[in-house]
Amino acid sequence: MVSYADVDKLRSVHAPGPAVLSVYVPVPLDPAEVRGLAARAGDLMTDASAAGLGSGSAARVSHADRQAVLGALAAHGRDWLGHTVAFFACGELGLFEALPLPCVLPERAVLATRPHVRPLLAALQRCPDFRVAIADRQHAWVLSVSGNRVETVARQVDKGPRSPGFGGWYGLETYRVQQRIIELGRHHYRDTASILARAAESGGRMPLVIGGHHDSIAGLLRALPAAAREAFAGSFIADPHTLTPAKVRELAAPVIEAWVRRRERDLTEEILGQTPGRLASVGLPASVAAVNEGAVAHLLVADEGTIPGFACGRCGALSAGRDQCPDWGTAAQAVPDLLEEMVQRTLDDDGQVTVIRDAPFSVAAKLRFPVSGEGPAIAPPGR
Ligand SMILES: [Zn+2]
Repeated sequence: MVSYADVDKLRSVHAPGPAVLSVYVPVPLDPAEVRGLAARAGDLMTDASAAGLGSGSAARVSHADRQAVLGALAAHGRDWLGHTVAFFACGELGLFEALPLPCVLPERAVLATRPHVRPLLAALQRCPDFRVAIADRQHAWVLSVSGNRVETVARQVDKGPRSPGFGGWYGLETYRVQQRIIELGRHHYRDTASILARAAESGGRMPLVIGGHHDSIAGLLRALPAAAREAFAGSFIADPHTLTPAKVRELAAPVIEAWVRRRERDLTEEILGQTPGRLASVGLPASVAAVNEGAVAHLLVADEGTIPGFACGRCGALSAGRDQCPDWGTAAQAVPDLLEEMVQRTLDDDGQVTVIRDAPFSVAAKLRFPVSGEGPAIAPPGR
């Protein structure tokens, strides 16, 4: 499955002209529908050529790149049922990649000077790798989930004393014995917590889901060090004895989905709650100005659609209109999607990017410093 390393690799690819083809094709779940895919992908690539010509550039999808995409779909379409596949092709640069994504995204084809990665970022953000911890007083199980793959990171089974007096942890009579169990329980959660803390150190900031009985979830959560608790995405109730890796993934998936949605909503509300122009920009003109000034700390971009625009070959300014930079359009180059350009610039400046579904804006940003929102001063040539 796709990773942030793939995004970095693709972001380093540049062609002198708009010769890099990016195609996102959702492959249906029903194998019977796969036959119609080639026609759909063909139409998308034709539209990408037409958009290039419409913007005044002479770019069109090359025959070889077109055939490479169609060939891969014909050969592997049935391996990708239910996934969106991203193709990146540029014969001129010797580039051809076919990446099945962990979730379904809208179709899109773009011809540009570099790979179009906005949907790739959306997929990584929406279907992140995550960890699951399952714990009760006898078991601890830490798993890592990446796409369809579930791996056990650590597992302890039937830990603790099995003396008859403890009745296998159940049927406890005396307060003293109960206290002892609670103590052991605490230690046990602490063991699991330290496994998670170590995992968090090695694996970066992966979200964490906790599963088990209600009181074990609370116990483990209390034992987590602050850094690991920050990664806590939510929990599900289940009897640990009945769980298999596949079942864990199935129960954790909606928890992660809700966490991702919550994060998108919180970020949106945070930006909309700021005073515009101060440390936030909302909408295309203000956000383009902020990107041009290198002021963006965190860019929020809408999921759907592309917005054609221009990038100045001289001063580098992005703009919606051809003549909106100090060079008065003398070096303006058409770009198929301003939102993608803004994403790339933000990442180049070490900013963060989040793709938002059902956003009440095309683009918005959390800023490092206030900008005027009017963009660079515009003067006609010769003055
Ligand atoms: Zn310029």
